[in-house]
Amino acid sequence: MIRPILIHPDPRLKKVVDPVADITDDLRRTADDMLATMYDAPGIGLAGPQIGLMARLIVLDCEKDEAAAPRPLIMFNPEIIASSDEKSVYEEGCLSIPEQYAEVERPAEVTVRWMDRDGKAQEETFDKLWATCVQHEIDHLDGKLFIDYISPIKRQIITRKMQKLKRDRARA
Ligand SMILES: [Zn+2]
Repeated sequence: MIRPILIHPDPRLKKVVDPVADITDDLRRTADDMLATMYDAPGIGLAGPQIGLMARLIVLDCEKDEAAAPRPLIMFNPEIIASSDEKSVYEEGCLSIPEQYAEVERPAEVTVRWMDRDGKAQEETFDKLWATCVQHEIDHLDGKLFIDYISPIKRQIITRKMQKLKRDRARA
């Protein structure tokens, strides 16, 4: 099921959310919905708070090669346990901030620990787009958006555009 995606500014996108204590069937279904919503958008990552789920759950698939098989990942309670000193810059966007992009610098490599759909502990080191995306999604669980990394003036311009977008959508 495709879920509606919250648009910035929204207080739910500014909250630090709690870990998932128990991976219930309901949460598994929600994770599947999040993947469907992400692919439909289309996007490469989605975090719980973006659909109003205030729990530490993210989904992502950064496989950009059309010929490659999709690689959907569901991460409960993802945690960055190591980051490289080396940085990389990507132009980021966000499904909660449609059609706005900005360059953000982040560690080029991160090692993430999480629980998968079956509650099994997983650990993997990500680089390139995957590293940026997983950091962006984990930020969402701490109430942080990519525009928090850019200048206050640019942030304000984008926020005003989003306020207008929400007004226009409400009227439509
Ligand atoms: Zn985002």
